[in-house]
Amino acid sequence: MEALKSYLAGQWVSGEGKGQTLYDPSTEEALATTSTEGLDFGGARAYGASKGGAALRAMTFAQRGEMLLALSRAIHSKRDELIESGMKNAGNTRSDAKFDVDGASGTLAAYGELGKSLGDATFFSDGEPISLGRSSRVSGQHVLVPRRGVAVHVNAFNFPAWGLAEKAACAWLAGMPVISKPATATAMLTVRMTEALVASGALPEGALQMIAGPSGDLIDRLGPQDVLAFTGAGSTGAMLRSKKNVIDHAVRVNVEADSLNAAILGSDVERGSDTWLLFITDVARDITQKAGQKCTAIRRVFVPKAMLEAACEDLVERLYGCVVGSPFAEGVTVGPLATAAQLRDVRAGLDRFVQAGAKVLTGGSAAVQGKGAPEGKGYFVAPTVLLAEDAHRINIVHEHEVFGPATTVLPYESNDECVQLVARAGGGLVSTVYTDDRAVSAEVALGIAAYHGRVCVANSRMGSGWLGPGTVLPQLLHGGPGRAGGGEELGGHRGMLLYMQRTALQGFGPLIEGAVAGSKRL
Ligand code: NAP
Repeated sequence: MEALKSYLAGQWVSGEGKGQTLYDPSTEEALATTSTEGLDFGGARAYGASKGGAALRAMTFAQRGEMLLALSRAIHSKRDELIESGMKNAGNTRSDAKFDVDGASGTLAAYGELGKSLGDATFFSDGEPISLGRSSRVSGQHVLVPRRGVAVHVNAFNFPAWGLAEKAACAWLAGMPVISKPATATAMLTVRMTEALVASGALPEGALQMIAGPSGDLIDRLGPQDVLAFTGAGSTGAMLRSKKNVIDHAVRVNVEADSLNAAILGSDVERGSDTWLLFITDVARDITQKAGQKCTAIRRVFVPKAMLEAACEDLVERLYGCVVGSPFAEGVTVGPLATAAQLRDVRAGLDRFVQAGAKVLTGGSAAVQGKGAPEGKGYFVAPTVLLAEDAHRINIVHEHEVFGPATTVLPYESNDECVQLVARAGGGLVSTVYTDDRAVSAEVALGIAAYHGRVCVANSRMGSGWLGPGTVLPQLLHGGPGRAGGGEELGGHRGMLLYMQRTALQGFGPLIEGAVAGSKRL
């Protein structure tokens, strides 16, 4: 069986001992092992900060952009192999694995183009010079310069390719080296992708290190110039951001956590209209794509009370054609969950919803025999729609994320009530209002905006530019307040700011002007 290696200080290395086993979630067969025990994480941190940081800071934005474009091409050239790896180790259908792998190369390419457009500068000036006296002799100018430490990226199991790329693209373009740590259970694809990135020759020494497993004492070693960007469960994020050294050194932390994203059917939308069909299509896609293991997936579906029965009927009908099973079996549209622990959590979550009063309209927590999977094996869950007729009293719907192929439909009677119900999740990544009506869009979209990092307003007139709310785009913010972790990623140049220090230069105007001459003004 393959023993996966980590890439630290420019070498492929293995830890001591037996380590952990990675599985094929369709068959429960062991695929590989990995150990990071005894690896020198302190050395990796120092190596990244000194070698990688210096090399990246010496490059212009345009050169970093060219590097990102080369890395994007490197992933694309290994696309089939990477997709295969996602199908095997993460249980992704081919189309789900493409979503992850193409998302990785696409995000690197988008940041590559951004880098080229920023030109020969190496840092930003933020706003115009500010005159601080009667003449321009004393002035102030804010600048954004790359931090001098390492960016440690801790990622969730559901996007082993995109997770590395979306965070690294921002850090590299800002001028910071990266140590990326995928979730152990699905690390195989990240290892394959790192091999491709390293082999491309496009990365300066020290710009990328990758830990294929637990990160040992790395987080405890982070210091004041380092950045920790985490994606995963809210409880893990809370634990990492409250570590003593993270607090003592004010290590900059970004957390992307859980979310109970909503889809809201506007009160103006009629059954069978194109906007109605778009709404049903988007909700069904988010239940089934990646077996619902997307942080952006629609977990709560708000429908005007008068339309409740019709919406439930159409949604359930749309899911009839789904085939759950191994991604390698003909016709399968929904793969397994990634791990045995996820299967246990999702089933337990669904049971809790039902105990709290939700009705199962289709699917549920019962065991499923996946197509093409050995008898009784695999971590499969049927696409599930629940109905919570009392949207106010079934609290768990607004509190607990079932990270699988499931959503809950809830009725509302007025826009105000809908906004209040959406807000009960305590902050989220993305919610969508489906409407053709300007008043509904203004009231609901702006009403829920303060609770989200992204709000979509969708109808049938958008055409092919609409990818659904579940696709995270490099141009727009990803993150959200409260439950979602309070973080911000991507959003074009905004995603770079996590890795840069904003500093006010103050003093003799002509000297400051000279110091910022090589910057790109934001
Ligand atoms: P998780 O258990 O919190 O794990 C996330 C990452 O944290 C993994 O790489 C894990 O490594 C690592 N980790 C755990 N304990 C650690 C420690 N003590 N020190 C350093 N690293 C540690 O979450 P998950 O089960 O992978 O992901 C599911 C959750 O992530 C869901 O709740 C989902 O909503 C959320 N999510 C959010 C987003 C977003 O962008 N907001 C995206 C995807 C997923 P090991 O695997 O080695 O334990």
